[in-house]
Amino acid sequence: MGSASGITVAARGHGHSLEGQSQAHEGVVINMESLEGPQMQVYAGKLAYVDVSGGELWINILHETLKYGLAPKSWTDYLHLTVGGTLSNAGISGQAFRRGPQINNVNQLEVVTGKGEVVTCSEEHNSDLFYGVLGGLGQFGIITRARISLEQAPKMVKWIRMLYSEFSVFSKDQESLILSENSFDYIEGFVIINRTGLLNNWRSSFNPKDPLQASQFNSYGKTLYCLEVAKYFNPDEANIVNQKIERLLSKLSYIPPTLFLSEVSYVHFLDRVHMSEVILREKGLWEIPHPWLNLLIPKSKIHNFAEGVFGKIITNTSNGPILIYPVNKSKWNNRTSFVTPDEDNFYLVAFLSSAVPSSTGTDGLEYILAQNERILNFCSMADLGVKQYLPHYNTQEEWQAHFGFRWEVFVKRKSAYDPFAILAPGQRMFTKAKPFV
Ligand SMILES: Cc1cc2nc3c(=O)[nH]c(=O)nc-3n(C[C@H](O)[C@H](O)[C@H](O)COP(=O)(O)OP(=O)(O)OC[C@H]3O[C@@H](n4cnc5c(N)ncnc54)[C@H](O)[C@@H]3O)c2cc1C
Repeated sequence: MGSASGITVAARGHGHSLEGQSQAHEGVVINMESLEGPQMQVYAGKLAYVDVSGGELWINILHETLKYGLAPKSWTDYLHLTVGGTLSNAGISGQAFRRGPQINNVNQLEVVTGKGEVVTCSEEHNSDLFYGVLGGLGQFGIITRARISLEQAPKMVKWIRMLYSEFSVFSKDQESLILSENSFDYIEGFVIINRTGLLNNWRSSFNPKDPLQASQFNSYGKTLYCLEVAKYFNPDEANIVNQKIERLLSKLSYIPPTLFLSEVSYVHFLDRVHMSEVILREKGLWEIPHPWLNLLIPKSKIHNFAEGVFGKIITNTSNGPILIYPVNKSKWNNRTSFVTPDEDNFYLVAFLSSAVPSSTGTDGLEYILAQNERILNFCSMADLGVKQYLPHYNTQEEWQAHFGFRWEVFVKRKSAYDPFAILAPGQRMFTKAKPFV
């Protein structure tokens, strides 16, 4: 595998990255889900944790830890992803504003470096490798085991959605919620553009607080912003949690008839995207191209972004949801390889488009990719200080610009842990030198 060979190695988690990041052209792809080793081991107690394989799916970890009344603290929206795959990126969802991303909720890793060394690393031991691997896009080592921090798991979730027609009011409420001490346990949001006819889709499993008023609500095709929040609870705390929710809602400025509520189990809530997967698979709409674009936008620039993109570059949301929610970086550990905008608070904006394979129209791959490019160009022209999440670049210059002042450290770590550039070639960051023949 050294300099005498051109062979590279990619760890493949569940293979959900979108641009071939878990592939190795003419190299070796390791199916991490086939990794055999010790089973998941849960350690209950004050500082509870679970030891898992790097190829383990988060949904399996949820089911195993729930047997002990415990669960990981930070999630992604979809749980059929591997530990190694999300820890190589960040793992961000509606819990990240208070818990940080998944990479901030790991105590220890076992890693096989590009030099073939098996290293156990943590904040205390081999911390440079530990932080390098977290958010390191697979560049420094393959995560074979991870120790994930756990907390008491709630049984139930109050899940709430409400609409806004003014972006400034919506974002003000989102920001005050992520910054307040007593808030919801999960805060996300999404944009609805030009969807008059299908306005019911956004809340199909929710009940209106006031059915009469809700039935009379008409958006007249305006762009709407949906705030989505959740509060966890156990059945014996139902009354107290209802009062807490009432208090929190009373401070928000949503459109009153558009308050919709739902009560589901914790597992149902966390595994919600899988339920959509089952439906989409039945319709043949799951295994199609997903030209997604995920951006991290500084809080001070989110209004410029919304004004320039929603309703202008993006004129409807029929190709897929657009998620938008702020996170508070002061709760995050900034020693990892994960790159964020410079400000303390920033927004994740996720354009989660699906493309109709044979279409050459506005729902086709070419059109959506061009639209993504227009969004990126707008961000660059307006100098918004945006960073890509789940980044994809083709040249080292672009990667250097992405990492900014952190590039130097990244390169040093690469030469320390994977000097021949064997690992994760699909990220197109470093190229293994071809041997003479
Ligand atoms: C429906 C859906 C919803 C999603 N929702 C979210 C979300 O809410 N939040 C979020 O943050 N992300 C989300 N994602 C994105 C997801 O985190 C990434 O696609 C991630 O890469 C998927 O993990 P995977 O197991 O499929 O990894 P892969 O795509 O297989 O791998 C990703 C990268 O990590 C490397 N890698 C994989 N395993 C290891 C390992 N063990 N050690 C070292 N490197 C490794 C690969 O080589 C590759 O470079 C979502 C994806 C989907 C499909």
